[in-house]
Amino acid sequence: MMAQSKVMGELALPTVLIVDDDRVSRTVLAELLQGECRILMAKDGLSALQRVRDDPSICLLLLDISMPGMSGYEVLQMLYANPRTAHIGVVIISGQVQEAHEEKGLLLGAIDYIFKPIRPAIVRVRIRNHLRMIAQRKELERLASRDGLTGIANRRSFDESLALVCQLAARRQEALGLAMVDVDYFKQYNDLYGHPAGDDALRRIAQVVAGFARRPYDIAARYGGEEFVLLLPSVPDLEILMERLRTDVLALALPHAGSDVGKVVSISIGAAQVEAGNRIKPERLLEEADTLLYKAKQRGRNCVVSGTVLTDSGYGPLS
Ligand code: GH3
Ligand code: MG
Ligand code: MG
Repeated sequence: MMAQSKVMGELALPTVLIVDDDRVSRTVLAELLQGECRILMAKDGLSALQRVRDDPSICLLLLDISMPGMSGYEVLQMLYANPRTAHIGVVIISGQVQEAHEEKGLLLGAIDYIFKPIRPAIVRVRIRNHLRMIAQRKELERLASRDGLTGIANRRSFDESLALVCQLAARRQEALGLAMVDVDYFKQYNDLYGHPAGDDALRRIAQVVAGFARRPYDIAARYGGEEFVLLLPSVPDLEILMERLRTDVLALALPHAGSDVGKVVSISIGAAQVEAGNRIKPERLLEEADTLLYKAKQRGRNCVVSGTVLTDSGYGPLS
């Protein structure tokens, strides 16, 4: 019981990487930060960069400047040149006390520069304050990427990821699926049951949609109003999967007396699939999915219309 709560407590703590070639400095810092964070250590710049790449939980580096091989400045530059590690905070802790060094470190993006020999009590509270700021920023980022009503990703964060996922799929020669999902006769639903009930229905549908984004690069988002998107790289059969999504939403069994296609709330889906080895512009993929959704509405709603996006012209055979 004790052991478990210790592990859980440590998991909740932020992860800090101490980078210093001097063992004593590393130990002193690690000791004074006991209980404040989970601590990792590296004794040179190269292994520090490796650790940062391997462990995405690292949010702060305590970085020495004078180290054999790669200097702290070089570590800083490489860290911030890579978009995947550019969010990590760096506090320089260095014996180089000249103003020019301090200025250089701060100009390169360090959030603080602390001189050695350190004053332990002061360093502890300074690091604690930095960690609090980092946690607040993380929470703001999380909130800014979520849709307020449903709690799933919002359009802004979806648009941001779309370009990246398209690129990644092309580079890895993987297929890519994008589905546009729209609730049928939702205006009537609001008119009949009221806006708060409409909000509830959207929340429940959002949960079902989000359940189809299971792998690391899958994304489910609220695209706007009563429209959702699912971006699914290397999915073998998008149409079968989206057919399941359609029936899962029917299975929510939300009564809808104003629908012309059934007694419960249903969705229409446009599912655009890019085959492995093809490259496509994000806007084009969105357009294709939207066109297919429009066809699904025209075919009578409560259905999936899928199509393969070939190259920069036209579709493959429609199913
Ligand atoms: P279709 O079957 O062609 O999709 O018809 P529809 O009525 O679903 O489509 P339309 O675009 O005419 O209406 C969408 C409705 O969705 C209108 C709007 O009031 C409702 N809606 C959009 N966002 C929200 C929301 O956040 N909450 C609620 N309750 N309703 C919303
Ligand atoms: Mg709509
Ligand atoms: Mg609709």
